[in-house]
Amino acid sequence: MDYRVEMQSSCLFCRIIRGESPSQFVYQDQLVVAFKDTRPQAPVHVLVCPTKHIPTLNDVQEEDNALLSHMFQVAKSLAVQFSVHETGYRTVFNVNAGAGQTIYHLHLHVIGGRLLSWPP
Ligand code: 5GP
Ligand code: ZN
Repeated sequence: MDYRVEMQSSCLFCRIIRGESPSQFVYQDQLVVAFKDTRPQAPVHVLVCPTKHIPTLNDVQEEDNALLSHMFQVAKSLAVQFSVHETGYRTVFNVNAGAGQTIYHLHLHVIGGRLLSWPP
C-alpha cells in the first residue's frame, strides 16, 4: 500500500481530517484542510494540510506539484481571510526533527498578526 495515499490511523492530522479528533476547520476542499494551531505562535497561526498522508516535504513527488501549488494558494487566501496579507505573514514547512517538525503529516504553517523576526 502506498503510504502517501493511505490514511494513517496513527497520524493525528489524518484523524483530524477524518473528523475523529476535534478541530476547528477554517477551510476545506478535496485536496486540503486548514485549521487553527492549538499552540499558536502568533495571533494568526493556521495549518494547511493535504488530505493525503505525506510525511514530510522530502516525500513530495513531481505528481504532487499541483497539490503544493494549491496549498500556497489556500495559504494566500487564508492570509486575506485573517487580514494579515498586507501587514505580513510567513509560510513555513518544518522538515524533520532538526527543524522542529513534530507531526509527520505535511502541513504548511501560516503565521502572522505580529512582527516576525528574521532569522527565526
Ligand atoms: P510542526 O512542529 O510539526 O511543524 O507543527 C505541528 C504543529 O501542530 C505545532 O505547531 C503544534 O502546535 C500543532 N498541533 C499539535 N497537536 C495539535 C492538535 O491536536 N490540533 C491542532 N490544531 N494543532 C496541533
Ligand atoms: Zn496523516
